[in-house]
Amino acid sequence: MKIKKGVSLIDQHDKNFMYGGKFGGNFIPETLKKPIDDLTKLFSKLRREKKFLSERDYHFQTYVGAPTPFIKLENLTDRLGGAQIYAKVVSEANGGAHKIYNATVHCLIAKRAGKKFIVGDTGAGYAGKMLSMAAKKFGLKCKIFMGAKDIKRQRPNVEAMKKNGAEVVPVTTGSQTLVDAVSECMRYWVSNCDLVHNCIGSTVGPNIFIKICAWSTAQISRELMIQVKDEFGKIPKKLKLINCVGGGSSAAGFWNEFMNTNAEFIGVEAGGPKNSKLHAAPLTNGSKIGILHGAAQYVIQDKEGQIGSTESISAGLDYPGISPLHCFLKDAKRARYTSASDEDALKAYELVSKLENISPSLEPSHAFAEAIRLAPKLKSSEVIIVNSCGDSLKDKDIIKQRLGSYIR
Ligand SMILES: *Cc1c(COP(=O)(O)O)cnc(C)c1O
Repeated sequence: MKIKKGVSLIDQHDKNFMYGGKFGGNFIPETLKKPIDDLTKLFSKLRREKKFLSERDYHFQTYVGAPTPFIKLENLTDRLGGAQIYAKVVSEANGGAHKIYNATVHCLIAKRAGKKFIVGDTGAGYAGKMLSMAAKKFGLKCKIFMGAKDIKRQRPNVEAMKKNGAEVVPVTTGSQTLVDAVSECMRYWVSNCDLVHNCIGSTVGPNIFIKICAWSTAQISRELMIQVKDEFGKIPKKLKLINCVGGGSSAAGFWNEFMNTNAEFIGVEAGGPKNSKLHAAPLTNGSKIGILHGAAQYVIQDKEGQIGSTESISAGLDYPGISPLHCFLKDAKRARYTSASDEDALKAYELVSKLENISPSLEPSHAFAEAIRLAPKLKSSEVIIVNSCGDSLKDKDIIKQRLGSYIR
C-alpha cells in the first residue's frame, strides 16, 4: 500500500472511494445514493470556491477562535529530561474540543444547500453538543439521534443540547448506543433529504463524510505548520506528532499539512483497563476488516462478525471501528499506532495538569501517556508535539472518582 505523492490525504482514494484499494468506499443502500451524490458534488464545488473558503476562515477565526495556542511544556520537558515537548492546545477552541470545526463546516454547507434543518448522531454526546452549538449560531433547526442507553449515561451533554434548542431523539434499537444512533440518523436523513442536512461527527461513514470532517479539522495542522516554522525557523529534523485516535478526526487534522514532511505520526488508541481483555484499539490490539457505517475498515468483532464489545475510560475513544484514513496510513506505514491503558492515561493527565497550565481531557491524555513514555529515551534536539484536543473539565467526575481529586 502506497501514499500518492502530491495528493492530499482525503483524496488518496481510487474511483470507488477506496483508500489503498481496501478501506472506505460507499457500502450504502440504494436509497442513500442520491443524497450522497448530491452532497459529494456540492462539497467538491465548495472546497474550491474562494467565497466559501473565506466564509470558513472568517467563522473559524470569529466563532471557533482560531488560531489555537501552541505552547512549550517546559516543566514536563525538564522533568522527563529528553525530547522537547510541546502542545497544540486545540481545547481552547470554542466548546473545548476539535469537534466544533466539523460542526461549523457542516452548518455552512447546509446553508449553501438551502437547508434549514440539520441532523447528527452522537455517542458520548460531544458531537451532538457541538453540532447543537453551531446550529444555534447559524440559525438552523437541529435534531440529534442518541442511543437511549447513552442518554441515561450522559445527562449533562443531553441537557446542553436541549439548552441549545436541539431535539434529542432516543434510539431504542440494537445496543441503544452510538452504532445504532448513526444508522437511525441515516434512515431519517434518507426520508427527509430534501429539507435536511446530515452531519457525522468523525472521519467515519460513507466517503463524503470522512472527507468533509478531515477537511475541516485540517485547520489544526495549517495553524501548526506556521507555529512550528515560527518557533524553530524550519521543520525540526526529528519531529513526532502524537494524537489520540477514536474515530480519527483530530489525528487526521493534526497530521494533514505534514503529510509530505519527515514528521513521524504516532496515533494512540484506547487500550482499556489494564486487567481487562476489552479495549477500543482496533489497529493495535486486534481486529479484522469489516464494514461499519457504510465503509470498510478494521473493526473489533467476534468470530461471527458481530461488532465486538469495547471498553475505555474515555468516552470519546470508545468506538469499535476506526477511520479508513487511519487504516490506510497504518498499512502504508506512514503512521504508527499504539495504545495506552486507562491507568496510563489517568497518570498522564495528573502529571501534565500538575506541572503545566493545561489540563487535557482523558482522550488526549492517552497521547500524553505515549509522549511521557518516549521523551526520556530521546535527545534534547528532538521535538514531540501532542495535540491536546480536549479539556479535562468534562471528565471531572470520573477523574475525582478514580484519583480522589481533580486538578485543573
Ligand atoms: C470525540 C473526541 C475524540 C475522539 O474522536 P476523533 O475523531 O478520534 O478525534 C478525541 N478527543 C476529544 C476531546 C473528543 O471530544
